[in-house]
Amino acid sequence: MSDELVRKGGTPRYPLVEDRVQAEIMGRVRAEAGPISRARLIEALNFSRGKISAEVARLIEKGLLAEDGLAESEGGRRSSLLIIPPSAGLVAAVDIGATSIDVALTTLGSELLAQRDAPADVREGPLSVLDQVKSLLAELLEQQGVSPRDVLAIGVGVPGPAEQASGLLTVPPIMPGWDRFPIRDAFAGEYAAPVFVDNDVNVMALGEHWGGVAKGVADVIFVKIGTGIGSGIIVGGRLHRGAQGCAGDFGHICVDPDGPLCSCGNAGCLEAMAAAPAIVLQAERCAREGESPLLMALLKEKGELTMKYVGEAARRGDYCALTIIRRSGRLIGQTLASAVNVLNPSMIVIGGGVSRVGHALLAEVRSAVYQRSLPLATRNLPIVMSELDDVAGVVGASVMAAREVLSFAGR
Ligand SMILES: [Zn+2]
Repeated sequence: MSDELVRKGGTPRYPLVEDRVQAEIMGRVRAEAGPISRARLIEALNFSRGKISAEVARLIEKGLLAEDGLAESEGGRRSSLLIIPPSAGLVAAVDIGATSIDVALTTLGSELLAQRDAPADVREGPLSVLDQVKSLLAELLEQQGVSPRDVLAIGVGVPGPAEQASGLLTVPPIMPGWDRFPIRDAFAGEYAAPVFVDNDVNVMALGEHWGGVAKGVADVIFVKIGTGIGSGIIVGGRLHRGAQGCAGDFGHICVDPDGPLCSCGNAGCLEAMAAAPAIVLQAERCAREGESPLLMALLKEKGELTMKYVGEAARRGDYCALTIIRRSGRLIGQTLASAVNVLNPSMIVIGGGVSRVGHALLAEVRSAVYQRSLPLATRNLPIVMSELDDVAGVVGASVMAAREVLSFAGR
């Protein structure tokens, strides 16, 4: 990493750019996700050729950009290609789920370099989970032959509502001990890089919008169906966080006032009725009551049922498993139909562990949305599976952190 990017004492400068022109140049090069010619850069940005050339030279000097050969000739002089070199510095990306953690190292251009995941339980509290995160991260750094000093930004997705400005979580229902816990401080001992925290579903939506099936799509609802249910909303190409950062908290919409108690304290939330724990509970009931010989055999063999086994039973055509999954898909689709009427998205992306059970769930979500939304809103509305799948979180965490350190708001 260039010394220009580091203050005395090893603290990365933040933001890494000096002005709006540099920020826009870096943004454009990042968006290309590969080499971009100087000519194309000049064409895409609304600054003079001279200004761009001067700032590109500054960015090369700082080590944030590098020249990488020449572009194909378009008549006349061949323009040089620009990239964000891995030597510019790295982004540490962390995706904390309710039952697992994913950690990755990426370039400042959000290109994945290395990744690790491990089972975890957020209910064990922030100290133990963040220790696990830091040891996975240390392993990755060692594997890549780099040090914490090479990390320019850290992005963290957490399974609960997070306040962007403070990086604090606010009353996450499934995470006792995490309320107002200073996640940023947990990294301060080893890392000098700034830490950015957001809800895991927002982060996944960013990832999918950056490099997945929703790339370039302006209005997207990303729905995560796992231990909980949440959504990340992209409006006009930007993540919509809402006034307090809890926009898209879709899982706590009430679908049945007489339904089961939810972790948030209310009754009959979508999450309490359609997320993984609800599906597994219903499957266990079917198994115990002898309604499904296959689920009964799986329960006996494994000692307990998990989402994976219910999905396996559904794929093998088990009637009970299919009925439970379809019911969950229908409830999610019906709730989503209201969101479609309100937001009029141009794409819906479904991700998270439960989405991997197969076609039955997606088919039911689709049919409920198409049936219940306004016809005009669904005329061109693809409802598709996440393309980045289990890396959507870390890619999104990297995108969030890299954008923050490369943005310039007149600081
Ligand atoms: Zn709830």
